[in-house]
Amino acid sequence: MINNGSQVLFIKILQLPFHVFSMILMKKNEDNFEASFAAFCKAAGLRKTIQRRIIYRIFYKARCHLGMEDIMAKVSIENPELRPESVYRILSDFERGGYIRKVQVPGVKKYEYASERHGHFLCSKCGRITDVDISGIHLPSVLSGACQVSITFNGICPECAKKNEK
Ligand SMILES: [Zn+2]
Ligand SMILES: [Zn+2]
Repeated sequence: MINNGSQVLFIKILQLPFHVFSMILMKKNEDNFEASFAAFCKAAGLRKTIQRRIIYRIFYKARCHLGMEDIMAKVSIENPELRPESVYRILSDFERGGYIRKVQVPGVKKYEYASERHGHFLCSKCGRITDVDISGIHLPSVLSGACQVSITFNGICPECAKKNEK
């Protein structure tokens, strides 16, 4: 039984009161966050600063598409002093380091966590952008050398379609 130790530990954790249990989980997330932030800064040759930590955390928590307004709204809660110019600078540092990227949808100025390559569905009514899994799409061999893929589907999202029906 190789896993015995961790199984016992797991059972012990399960027996803890809920608030202690959630504190352990939070602590673990916090450790992961700090480790991830430290590793990224080291790899990207960036100094760990309070400002960078704030922006890093925004994309660490929100795996969605964020415009400058969304980012500034989140920033202002943590540090109202942080100016848009500094945020832009941090965003481009993070983009260069490969942590985030610009959302590849024509006419859209948003950023997202640089996860697996995916396409986007842009609703022409409400403007909402949804990630689309494109891993199953077979690309012709002529594209095997393509290093940047941007696929955007345009249409009307299910919610807007429902409103239209009414
Ligand atoms: Zn819509
Ligand atoms: Zn996306």
